[in-house]
Amino acid sequence: MKKSIFFLLLVSTTTFAQTSEDSLMIRKIYDEVLSNGQAYEWLRYLCKQIGPRLSGSVGAQKAVAYTKQLMEQEKFDRVFLQDVKVPHWVRGAKEEAYFKIGKEKTKVPIAALGGSVATAPKGLEAEVIEVKSFQQLRELGKDKVKGKIVFFNRPMDPTKINTFEAYGGAVDQRANGATEAANLGAVGAIVRSVTTRQDDVPHSGSMRYGTGVPLIPTAAISTNAANLLSQKLKEHPNLTFYFRQNCETLPDADSHNVVGEIKGREKPDEIIVVGGHLDSWDIAEGAHDDGAGCVQSIEAVRLLKVLGYQPKRTIRAVMFMNEENGLKGGIKYADLAKQNNEKHIAAIESDNGGFTPRGFGIVGKTDQKAKIIGWKPLLAPYGLHEIGPGGGGADIGPLAQHGTVLLGYKPDTQRYFDYHHAANDNFENVSKRELDLGTASMAVLIYLLDKYGI
Ligand SMILES: [Zn+2]
Repeated sequence: MKKSIFFLLLVSTTTFAQTSEDSLMIRKIYDEVLSNGQAYEWLRYLCKQIGPRLSGSVGAQKAVAYTKQLMEQEKFDRVFLQDVKVPHWVRGAKEEAYFKIGKEKTKVPIAALGGSVATAPKGLEAEVIEVKSFQQLRELGKDKVKGKIVFFNRPMDPTKINTFEAYGGAVDQRANGATEAANLGAVGAIVRSVTTRQDDVPHSGSMRYGTGVPLIPTAAISTNAANLLSQKLKEHPNLTFYFRQNCETLPDADSHNVVGEIKGREKPDEIIVVGGHLDSWDIAEGAHDDGAGCVQSIEAVRLLKVLGYQPKRTIRAVMFMNEENGLKGGIKYADLAKQNNEKHIAAIESDNGGFTPRGFGIVGKTDQKAKIIGWKPLLAPYGLHEIGPGGGGADIGPLAQHGTVLLGYKPDTQRYFDYHHAANDNFENVSKRELDLGTASMAVLIYLLDKYGI
């Protein structure tokens, strides 16, 4: 036998043996989670017993203690907290809003945007100018905008198949609308909720003020109310809009990332991270965003542990704090990794909801991407077809500068923005089976990254 042919046979035999060993392990991971999954009950506790967890809140503090205790109870090798200073914004009393035509008032649901200032205690009333874009607003100019409330009413593009793309095309109104409006002398900004759904719940989210502009109050309005207001404005261009909100930014608060790890046997200094963010908006239970990602991360590590898998590398579950309105947890985690000379080879983030898994987006070098894409035959039988270049995630993003390969968990996107940052992002809207399948896909990825490196 020629040496090269012998070598070829040897390689293909080894590959086959490895593949079947991997297939069996992957099957075991799915069997375990689908028979004995714990994450759903953990999520129930996080949503129902703790509830909203905006950074700086009592809920956030309780969630830190709860997830720490979970990882201790599951006998992770080491569980610890990282100190993080976080922004502390509070909504205060529930907002009130209506538009007025003559003497007739029509109430509408609004929610102050995270980071916004309050109105005067008695509220703010002014005429409204509706726009679909910053360009349109600038063209109207100071004369038409001064003294008015600007109403940003561009919907998410319903024709985009990936709803995150549609979100990206509309969220500028929420993030920067107040600044654009204030630049032209507006006194307030009302923003159409960034959601795919027609409903009556306002969807909050963070905003920021540009430097040097007056800080004007800003709030999200439900999509149904936005349509109604738009229609009434056509009939009564001089109608007035009233809103009152009491939110404020308090001094930064002390908080934590929560970290739990199992030590690697062969290369304990090489770390693989899996994580989600523990904070959530104050008006929701934060079930999909991102209670799901947190419990999935702890569960993914538990699955490997309970199956007796002894990792070569150290596997860490990380609950990041303050993704929603500051990203302080993600930044601190990467800073500490650098300070402590830790080598993070890969990081997986789940922050796109607890829906049916579709795949992973990869941020890394060409050969690293190719290696992960090469695992597709093992993953496709479980519905993981979308494995390729893509976004990693906000919290693991800062690790990229240390050369860490980033992997963003990609579930189906069709329902995520129905619930995003709104009061209906609750436990009842998470499917146990979908959550568990997502967890298994994350555990499988950890297993492959650990076994073969990257
Ligand atoms: Zn999130």
